[in-house]
Amino acid sequence: MAAEQGSAQLAPDASPQSGVSHGLIPLARPEIGDAEIAAVARVLRSGWLTQGREVAAFEAEFANFVGAGHAIAASNGSAALLLALRALGLEPGAEVITVSHSFIATADAVREAGAFPVFLDIEPTTGNMDPAKLEATITARTRAILCVHQLGMPCDLAQILAIARRHGIPVVEDAACAAGSEVRLDTHWERIGKPHGTIACFSFHPRKLLTTGEGGMVTTADAEIARKIRLLRNHGMSASALSRHEAPEVVFERYDTPGFNHRMTDIAAAVGRVQLARLPDIVARRRALAGRYHTLLARIPGLATPTEPGWARGNWQSYGVRLPERLDQRATMQRLLDLGVATRRGVMCAHREAAFPTGSWRSAGTLAESERAQDTSILVPLFAQMTVDDQDRVVAALASVCARCP
Ligand SMILES: *Cc1c(COP(=O)(O)O)cnc(C)c1O
Repeated sequence: MAAEQGSAQLAPDASPQSGVSHGLIPLARPEIGDAEIAAVARVLRSGWLTQGREVAAFEAEFANFVGAGHAIAASNGSAALLLALRALGLEPGAEVITVSHSFIATADAVREAGAFPVFLDIEPTTGNMDPAKLEATITARTRAILCVHQLGMPCDLAQILAIARRHGIPVVEDAACAAGSEVRLDTHWERIGKPHGTIACFSFHPRKLLTTGEGGMVTTADAEIARKIRLLRNHGMSASALSRHEAPEVVFERYDTPGFNHRMTDIAAAVGRVQLARLPDIVARRRALAGRYHTLLARIPGLATPTEPGWARGNWQSYGVRLPERLDQRATMQRLLDLGVATRRGVMCAHREAAFPTGSWRSAGTLAESERAQDTSILVPLFAQMTVDDQDRVVAALASVCARCP
């Protein structure tokens, strides 16, 4: 493995000059090896760079992995969300119930689709949409529920889906972080992305477990939705470049519906296929490291470790801890950085950003738990190649910042 840990693997915010060589433990590192590099070279030599056989194979392999009938590759996870919402045919002003407590892409997708975000508070132990507050939020204008499997931890799908079904509302899953996570419904375990709602959307950004640099995937069991998303992804074009290339006779394409370019390249897809094969191992190593964190961090007074509900097996895309109330978030993160441990603040809240001014969203009830989670949580280093020594250093640094404060 050592030969694979060059600068190519560093997270985008860890430059080769800073960080690892000076002993900083980065927040995350993608796991890229020789097989990904060989796959890219193979595509570059092939003479076919986008929407070709690599994309088709990645779609088929991803669908098979999550157990979905259809998978459609996209240029990134945000595009995947936008395609999903567009495919539902939302009218202007349609309301989409989602969470503010997510990467801003979730709320952005709702607005880009011409819909109006309605923010629901989170349930503090998992950081996910609080199903107990969902039903009261539904109005005559609700057209979709966009739930997020935040940081890879499955949200309470059983409850969310039961409420959605009662009201006949489609559920879109923001599974950007959740490739390889599993949920138990009734008695059996299934991978996120089957999908359990109508559509699920994944991101392959380097901060996620499976990366293609930029990339995304939409999965659905609905053939008509899959067909629409393929059109929306490619300018509403009736025939793909590959199908025309392979046709024995001349094909003239048509443009019956509006669309745009949200395509994935074959270069990215080839990387994704190798990464997908690595994913079960990456998830297993992250789960082992997360388990070790639970044990060691539970001994630090005042520090709260994340909860995994009995019906969830998260991929631990990130590991977030709640700081003791008396600790200032920014000052604590700075002290950790000084000790050589990179962290990030907890998941943001879109409704607190100037990009979402009052009037551009509404909420049913307060978003107090969302705000508290943002203000008191920090994400600590976790990556599949992390050593036990690295992890012990993070634990020691957290113990020291928690002990030093009055
Ligand atoms: C990363 C992420 C996205 C966006 O994915 P991109 O590939 O970066 O566009 C959307 N939602 C959540 C919850 C994410 O973490």
